[in-house]
Amino acid sequence: MAYVITIDGPAGAGKSSVAKRLAQLLGIHYLDTGAIYRAIALVLAEAGIRPEESESLKKALPDIKIELRGETVLANGDDVSREIRTPKADRLSSVYSALPSVRQALLGLQRDQEKYGSLVVEGRDEGSVVFPKAPLKFFLTATPEARARRRCLERERRGEPVDYGEVLASIRERDTADSSRDVSPLVQPEGAVRVDTSDMTEDEVVELLLNHVREALSRGEITE
Ligand code: C5P
Repeated sequence: MAYVITIDGPAGAGKSSVAKRLAQLLGIHYLDTGAIYRAIALVLAEAGIRPEESESLKKALPDIKIELRGETVLANGDDVSREIRTPKADRLSSVYSALPSVRQALLGLQRDQEKYGSLVVEGRDEGSVVFPKAPLKFFLTATPEARARRRCLERERRGEPVDYGEVLASIRERDTADSSRDVSPLVQPEGAVRVDTSDMTEDEVVELLLNHVREALSRGEITE
């Protein structure tokens, strides 16, 4: 039977790489919901729609088509996979994702992914709002400094210029925005396993999560 594992947490806690590897090891799908929020934010900003609830926002949302094809993200048919990883997209996604109508517009797309089979989904409100009945939920966190260091490494690997101070400030800004918004704020979902990844390697985090999955399987809480 298809099952959903949710991984929520703040920016840079290691969710994406861990979620991807966990999905691979379990042989199930991986859903990066941040990519969806990033793509829709870019489309709205490019269309000149201000990040506030308005008639023009409500009119624009139903016409925006976001598609996920593996690692590729399409927005109205255009490949935006690279564009969504820029600092500008960091900022825009955080601002537009606070709007209730944006969140509502993306709820169906996220929940629909379950029909393609079991999945590991990562985001901010996956265990609390999108898949509240998921049998296994994780909340990954780390100090802002540890998260900023990771983001810098990621950007360096992609050959992009990095400024640690700027990255740290942006992480703090997004933490505040994501945790204090009225709709679906970033919270540790009820029943979620909290993992502080500050002093853990990626391998250690994956192993820890995998152990929880094995236990859930042996207890029959999830079935393959
Ligand atoms: O995870 P990532 O950093 O790619 O997410 C980009 C932004 O999208 C976050 O800062 C957050 O504001 C928003 N987001 C969200 N809910 C999700 C996933 C992402 O609000 N489930």
